[in-house]
Amino acid sequence: MEEEQQQTKEMDVEQEGGVKGIFFAESIYHLVREKYSQLTDSSSSSSPGRHKVLAGIAMTRGFDLRSAQVVSLATGTKCLDSDAANEDGCTLRDCHAEVLSRRALVRFFYSQLELLLCKRPEGEDQSIFVPDKDSTHRFRLREGIRFHMYISLSPCGDARINCPYEMTPAYPIRRFSCQLRVKVNGGEGTLPVTSRRTNQNWASVWPGPPVCMTSMSCTDKIAKWSVVGLQGALLSHLVEPIYLHSLTVGMLSHTGHLGRTITRRLAHIKNLPFLYRRQHLLLGCLSSREVRPAGKASNVSVNWSYGEQGLEEVSTTTGRTKESGTPSRICRSSLFGYWLRLENKLNRPDVDPEATTVTHPVSKMAAGCYQRARQQFSNALQDEGLGTWSRKPQKLGHFSVSV
Ligand SMILES: [Zn+2]
Repeated sequence: MEEEQQQTKEMDVEQEGGVKGIFFAESIYHLVREKYSQLTDSSSSSSPGRHKVLAGIAMTRGFDLRSAQVVSLATGTKCLDSDAANEDGCTLRDCHAEVLSRRALVRFFYSQLELLLCKRPEGEDQSIFVPDKDSTHRFRLREGIRFHMYISLSPCGDARINCPYEMTPAYPIRRFSCQLRVKVNGGEGTLPVTSRRTNQNWASVWPGPPVCMTSMSCTDKIAKWSVVGLQGALLSHLVEPIYLHSLTVGMLSHTGHLGRTITRRLAHIKNLPFLYRRQHLLLGCLSSREVRPAGKASNVSVNWSYGEQGLEEVSTTTGRTKESGTPSRICRSSLFGYWLRLENKLNRPDVDPEATTVTHPVSKMAAGCYQRARQQFSNALQDEGLGTWSRKPQKLGHFSVSV
């Protein structure tokens, strides 16, 4: 029990290097905000400036703030109507800032692996990854590299619904306390999942407004990343699990509830595969509150990862880039293409890459340890009575990419 309580520690205790947690949280906040301002200032479009939620991920060596660097960021609060989602992997369905900033981080990981494989000595020195000859994974992070997420508002789902400032008669707070929640289809907000409803039958059994069958709330996803890592299934073929070390929330008067809701999700997970763990997230809050943006949410979501020239604007109505309607650089299809190119370089250097066609779900399911960790996580949630993790309909997962 004591161990459980310690799983989610607050950052206002002394951390490594003598850095006070609150100062650390403030610094991550300022770094992400500054990077966002810099990117919007250099953007020719006026829409990126309007957003309800901003999320970003900074990278440090240990907790040394002098080494801190923002590596990804995104804005957004909407989930695409699943009727508009295509099965080709080219549309972004979940456009919530936290989710897109993780996808942008994955893109950064791919660019760093490419640096390593470019065969130039300076590439090897610059990459955050190093070869790992003693492991079944090919690569691991350099010693001491850590990732920290900042979100301007508490994550949607249980962490936000039950926070004191969110309490309104509209929410059945007590009844669904700590339940998993799914994002509302084609809009904002979340609805509770119950263990009796399984993913296949959502449309027929759910009596209320249509829900996005495939997207769990950000509270739930952050808890999942604390077990399976940020890298996703595909990259787990190549790198060890990579975890978030801290989470700083801008508009949150205390970290207590967010801590409890994540701890509750991780409490009973056991038998995780080698290298997977329950990552103890350090939670930070800011001394001065951010002001919650008023008005309607923007229909444009932006994303950026380190190495990119500027922001990419995505329409949350189509899930594609706003101007040209082309697939986003962080959609599943684009990231899968990156992965295939790396796999081919590593495993089949003699095969013509143009001739390779592999399907996305087969490659994901082949990531055995990752899939076992994911299963242990959802089993633990179900055993706790928190609900069944909604899996995306099979039709949405089947696509292939030629590289
Ligand atoms: Zn969210």
